[in-house]
Amino acid sequence: MRALYIHVPFCVRKCPYCDFYSLAGRDDLFEAYAEALRREAAWARRELGTLALESVYLGGGTPTVLPVGVIAGVLEACAGLFGFPADAEVTCEANPGTVTRAALAELRAAGVNRLSLGVQSLRDAELQFLGRTHTAAQGRRAVHDARDAGFANVSLDLIYCLPGQTPAQWQATVDEAAGLAPSHVSAYCLQIEDGTPLGEQVERGRVTPMPDDDQAALYAMTGERLRAAGFEQYEISNYALPGAECRHNLVYWRNEPYLGLGAGAWSFVNGERRQNAGDVEAYIAGCRADAPPLAYREKCSGASAANETLMMGLRLREGVDLAALAERYGHDLARERGETLARLIDAGLAVVSAGRLALTPAGMAVAGEITASLAFEEE
Ligand code: SF4
Repeated sequence: MRALYIHVPFCVRKCPYCDFYSLAGRDDLFEAYAEALRREAAWARRELGTLALESVYLGGGTPTVLPVGVIAGVLEACAGLFGFPADAEVTCEANPGTVTRAALAELRAAGVNRLSLGVQSLRDAELQFLGRTHTAAQGRRAVHDARDAGFANVSLDLIYCLPGQTPAQWQATVDEAAGLAPSHVSAYCLQIEDGTPLGEQVERGRVTPMPDDDQAALYAMTGERLRAAGFEQYEISNYALPGAECRHNLVYWRNEPYLGLGAGAWSFVNGERRQNAGDVEAYIAGCRADAPPLAYREKCSGASAANETLMMGLRLREGVDLAALAERYGHDLARERGETLARLIDAGLAVVSAGRLALTPAGMAVAGEITASLAFEEE
């Protein structure tokens, strides 16, 4: 167990494209939620003992809607229970509209050493379409403030493939983002989710999603522009300067164990996939009553676990160690899916090198279909 995730399901307001569960305008719950996190951490300590943590990740939601003192209190409690080595990667997600230079300096002093800024776009019209609470100028400002506050490791989140977005508009954002000199960039295509205000607009024909071919062209351009700026694509949607890959997210993609704290948080603990109760008030009540707030747990083994490992691992440029996969789950890809594998390699979509299966850039663009075609039959 090397990674700890702390979920903060609060936001300033809901973005119209987002289908994550989070609450806006519930500042009254902040203290109680932090207390619940500390209680859950104490249980986890009793179950799991001290953890050799390499990474801690505060995600959400928008963790920086919490006062920095509240975040610091949770981190301090977790550090006291589990111990964070001096070189642990401690990330906090932040939205530009929710941070000041002074708050960032406090966050840095609280032990956070990596900031993941939800800049999303550097064009105001796009930020308005996305319903974001900040402007492009605030996004740029936040990057400079983070650096002034002592963050050497800053990641920028970007969203593209917006309806009507032109290649020139997206290129301008990518190039400017790279010019802000982050160490890491995550660039995700906008997903139109059912049940969201944006999903309804699409259903009513008021908004037309970007066609797949145009999305593929922007995806290819993203890699080209960021590679030209010195970033390496180490995952389908993630780019880093050498050595600045997100250690925490690598744990997920390698399907390694992690502990998740908070409402709705997932964990992969002792070979089990677990999820906490998602409703914040139910989570707080459960923690107060000393009742573990688990809503779901399932033992992971066999073909379904092998498929998960394959699906996550093929997102990474490093790919999947086929011998380790066979040893861990008893499923041999070359033996069970040899023909499909050969076809993918012939088509230039995948390569096997030094025993690792990885997707080529062309394969990464259709990773979902490839993973489905390679999946082991579930028992
Ligand atoms: S800030 Fe992030 S988590 Fe919150 S509503 Fe917007 S997209 Fe969703």
